[in-house]
Amino acid sequence: LGNKIITPLKTLEQHIKDIIEGKKSENNQDDNNLISDYEEINTIANGIEKLTHHSLFQKNIELAAKNELLEKLSQTDYLTGILNRRKINEELQKEYQRAKRYDNSTFSIVLLDVDWFKNINDTYGHDKGDIVLKEIVSVISSQLRITDNLARWGGEEFLILCPSTDLSGAATIAKKIQSAIEKNNFSISHKITISGGVCEYNNSLSLDDLIIKADYKLYEAKSKGRNQIIL
Ligand code: GH3
Ligand code: MG
Ligand code: MG
Repeated sequence: LGNKIITPLKTLEQHIKDIIEGKKSENNQDDNNLISDYEEINTIANGIEKLTHHSLFQKNIELAAKNELLEKLSQTDYLTGILNRRKINEELQKEYQRAKRYDNSTFSIVLLDVDWFKNINDTYGHDKGDIVLKEIVSVISSQLRITDNLARWGGEEFLILCPSTDLSGAATIAKKIQSAIEKNNFSISHKITISGGVCEYNNSLSLDDLIIKADYKLYEAKSKGRNQIIL
């Protein structure tokens, strides 16, 4: 009984433990002989090993998909689906380090803020405001190049990171967006406009200074009457 049943069962138990712990099966000949001594046990053992392998494989696929989803969620703004502030900060850091390291490498940022957005919420309600924000994101996205990174910087504020782009290139993009927003037919009859500040990387400024500079330009656009882009 010991040799024919208990030992093969213990060997099988060890095989399954090894599979679960991810150890490579060593195909120990002695173990195989022990199991194959007894035909039925051998069949059952092989069946159980296959099942364990199969379900672990399935679980790993499910886990990988869930991890991918979690990673995506941690980088994405829940309302608009674009990058969130945390993710764009990472991208900004990378781009800043790259520009610092290589001569002739530059990048620009565009900071945009929807004009008088509070009025839209007050007039149509917050839910409609949410829908309009999504529409605004889709207009902005339609004007971007594949390499530009669009993120939700705050409530109705957006940041665009334009890699390998100088001030005039970024200004062109920002002005195209401003004009596209102004011309777009939104789902509310209210006129919607956007203001923006643009600045280019400069090795004498820290990344924070750069963002402050763009913010300052945005503030200037607001104080000069909104619906405009300041460089
Ligand atoms: P300004 O031209 O000076 O930017 O005016 P404003 O009204 O856009 O600026 P203010 O900062 O006073 O208001 C921003 C508004 O954006 C208020 C806030 O409720 C709204 N907002 C921020 N996030 C969201 C959001 O996720 N959904 C909705 N519906 N509204 C939001
Ligand atoms: Mg605003
Ligand atoms: Mg704002």
